[in-house]
Amino acid sequence: MDGRRHVYGPVPSRRLGFSLGVDIIPFKTCTLDCTYCQLGSTRKTVCRRGSWFPPGEILAQVKEAVESGQKIDVITFSGSGEPTLNRDIGRIIRAIKKMTRIPVVVLTNGTLLTRKEVRRDLADADIVVPSLDAVSGNLFRRVNRPNRALDPEKIIDGLARFREGFRGEIWLEIMLIRGVNDSPAHIKALRAAADRIRPERIQLNTVVRPPADVEAKPLSPGAMGKIRDALGPRAEIIASFEKRKQAPAAGDFETALLTAVGRRPMTAEDISLSLGRHRDEVLKALSSLRGRRKVRKAVYEGKTYFARARG
Ligand code: SF4
Repeated sequence: MDGRRHVYGPVPSRRLGFSLGVDIIPFKTCTLDCTYCQLGSTRKTVCRRGSWFPPGEILAQVKEAVESGQKIDVITFSGSGEPTLNRDIGRIIRAIKKMTRIPVVVLTNGTLLTRKEVRRDLADADIVVPSLDAVSGNLFRRVNRPNRALDPEKIIDGLARFREGFRGEIWLEIMLIRGVNDSPAHIKALRAAADRIRPERIQLNTVVRPPADVEAKPLSPGAMGKIRDALGPRAEIIASFEKRKQAPAAGDFETALLTAVGRRPMTAEDISLSLGRHRDEVLKALSSLRGRRKVRKAVYEGKTYFARARG
């Protein structure tokens, strides 16, 4: 037992409401090294699944959060890397489904859905949100810098197979990067892939948080709108989070703040909403943590973000 926190938030999510994050992967363990990743670069991509933490330890933390009385709209597998690399994910999802009626969401890069056992592991989730940013091998390597074993054609095939047997909803997420994967020809190819995968929704995102590669730039709202129209009626641009007040989080505020910004860069407002603290209190804590070099500041596209300082 490493005493690690596997559960964080609930954090405000632009599309899911208050999302209790469940992180079952060692930091930045991933099959990809996306240029837009908010967690920084993947040192070494991997495709081999592992079992890093006792499932009972993860489930005890989920249970504690669910019973804490905080507002939780969904329980979301995401966090430090690709959650399907944890080979216990299927049994953890099934145990959560027995514990609560709160919907379970899995954010995945979809690369391992080529495997039957991974498709089976995600079968009991309510919503699976796979990403698909590139259809051609060239663009896949440029945007997602994948492990050598991966092939986009097979990944699209895996997603189409997953659709055949999955009873929940699939929300296909496409991250658009200006001047990279936003050409009309590539959007047409993405539409053809989406027609095979048949997701309930196609969600268009762009680089709104500080990326691993500073060259990864966002599209304008106008350009996003044109691509949404080209992708058809299921496509939507992920809307801004509607502000709601969260009940104050229990426990040590500083620890909760460090855990939250350790998962993704957040603005002071994100933190205030997520942890239920006044913005001034958040800014004061951030200033103290920055003074002790535990948190760093990054300005991206005119907005100030705070992230955990590492090593
Ligand atoms: S964005 Fe997701 S899939 Fe891409 S490198 Fe980061 S953790 Fe992996």
